[in-house]
Amino acid sequence: MTTAIRMQPADQVSVRRNNLSLVLRLLHERGPRSRAAVAAATGLNKATVSSLVAELIDRGLVREVGTDEQRRLGRPATLLQLDGRNVVALGIELNVDFLDVLATDLSGEALVRRQRTIDAAGQSRQRTLTSLISLARQALDEVRTPATTLAGVTLAVPGLVDVGEGMIRLAPNLHWTDVEVRDRIVKALSLSVPMSVDNDGNLGALAEYRVGEFAGTPNLIFVSGQTGVGGGIIVDGHLLRGARGFSSEVGHMRMATDGPLCGCGRPGCWEALIGLKPLLHDALPDRAADIDAPDAPPEVKIREIVCRAEAGDQRALEALTRNGEWLGRGLATLVNLFNPEVVVLGGFFRDIAPWVLPVADAIVRKLTLAPDAGGCRIVVSRLPFSAAALGGAIHAAERVFDDPALVPFVTP
Ligand SMILES: [Zn+2]
Repeated sequence: MTTAIRMQPADQVSVRRNNLSLVLRLLHERGPRSRAAVAAATGLNKATVSSLVAELIDRGLVREVGTDEQRRLGRPATLLQLDGRNVVALGIELNVDFLDVLATDLSGEALVRRQRTIDAAGQSRQRTLTSLISLARQALDEVRTPATTLAGVTLAVPGLVDVGEGMIRLAPNLHWTDVEVRDRIVKALSLSVPMSVDNDGNLGALAEYRVGEFAGTPNLIFVSGQTGVGGGIIVDGHLLRGARGFSSEVGHMRMATDGPLCGCGRPGCWEALIGLKPLLHDALPDRAADIDAPDAPPEVKIREIVCRAEAGDQRALEALTRNGEWLGRGLATLVNLFNPEVVVLGGFFRDIAPWVLPVADAIVRKLTLAPDAGGCRIVVSRLPFSAAALGGAIHAAERVFDDPALVPFVTP
């Protein structure tokens, strides 16, 4: 068997794969550096690093960029940088009012973004999935070339997801229960790469943890205001998932026993108090008829409240103060439980932060047992309105960071 002679033993193959992954991640996470600096940071010897880098360059995943002028001794060293020009990762967010499809390169830079307003709660599932597939296909057609490697596709949904089965178990605001989505989308898009489905809050937290302003903060909580309120919790650098992957449903923390009815059918959930609809009804009572109309995404609907607050409208200002108070009470529970270094507010909380953040922050400090809220800072996300599609693309790109050899050699 001549092939056996050419093949490397399995453990040798996996050692090389791990080392390729190690070097690629280092260049991604810590930026450009020389081969010698890669060797120093990874503990690999220089000859091994040279061989790994040569392979990563041949696969178009790393490129040489200029020299390190800071070097005081010896000749300037050539710097290496993440490349990945032919790699595309696709993140898709399915939410109640909108679809968001984002194709990025390996570094997470946006290549194409497609968004569409929908009424997922009022239309058939089939219609929603058809729109989603069509939007994803448009984005893929736009970025794909014969040289492109699609790293993967990850779909974010607002609800409980069986990640292993690629099924939505329960999405209260979509009114979806036990919907198989992964295989349907894989088939419709003729995907030959793995597709994942995950909770939107988890993927938003992943985006914040990887590329947000507080990237790399080991204990980080992300809370996002959309139609509902979602969240994701990073503990010691890991996304908290729980026994069946259903953790971090922060929007359904019971905050008031006699509170308003939530989309999940229970009274007094956090999202029934601080979500988009209660805020719109509270701040814009004269616009009640328009609020439920599926004519605009949350980021558009929230603008009117911001305009009125800026103009000093008393009703809007009071509604924002109430929102900030309930926001603070829920955040205090999370801060007491998880002692995060930072809580990042995303979605429409970004837009109303000038009014709600000071109120919420004061309440968190009052209701947290640990002095100074355990050192926690409450901040506003600098990522786009919906971080979940970005988190999806980051998640999808992981496949290439785990195994760079998935990307074929670039033909000159
Ligand atoms: Zn609920």
